[in-house]
Amino acid sequence: MASGCYLCDTGHDKISDKNAGKVLGVCENCSILACEAHAQRDPNHPRWICVLCDTSLLTAAGITTSNGSSLNSVLTVLISSAILKDGSRYKTLEQFLEDRPNYSWILNQIDEVLVLARKRFTTDITEPFWFGLSEQGQKLIAAAIIIAERFELSEYDLVETLRILLHDWRSRE
Ligand SMILES: [Zn+2]
Ligand SMILES: [Zn+2]
Repeated sequence: MASGCYLCDTGHDKISDKNAGKVLGVCENCSILACEAHAQRDPNHPRWICVLCDTSLLTAAGITTSNGSSLNSVLTVLISSAILKDGSRYKTLEQFLEDRPNYSWILNQIDEVLVLARKRFTTDITEPFWFGLSEQGQKLIAAAIIIAERFELSEYDLVETLRILLHDWRSRE
């Protein structure tokens, strides 16, 4: 049954205890329609933003907070300067969660994901990238992975940098 929410209609899990299906807004970033189970209103930078775009923001934040240009990785140039600029407002995962309190459950999984990441990012591309990130950078990108897994997001809906990381992550499960 079509609801109009892009993520409901493509069969994704939802942000806990939120009603799925009733479209409340258009994502300010990517213009998909999204319900309150798949988007949140950002009170500090007022806008309606979907879970897909949150993973892009977290990925960009992880790169910028790690001084991305010095990482010298193809993964840092695959993300657009516009997304990097948008994500650069978040220096830490805690800052991001202040704007998105409905994602507080991410903290329950972050330590486990950080441990697993050391074993899963082992290709010539993902390993040097991951180990070049700062501690906060790793946390921000781990949060993007947690969201992508929780909502079972398609790699093809994600920003290229995260798509490559997630491909490695999933192929080593
Ligand atoms: Zn939805
Ligand atoms: Zn969006």
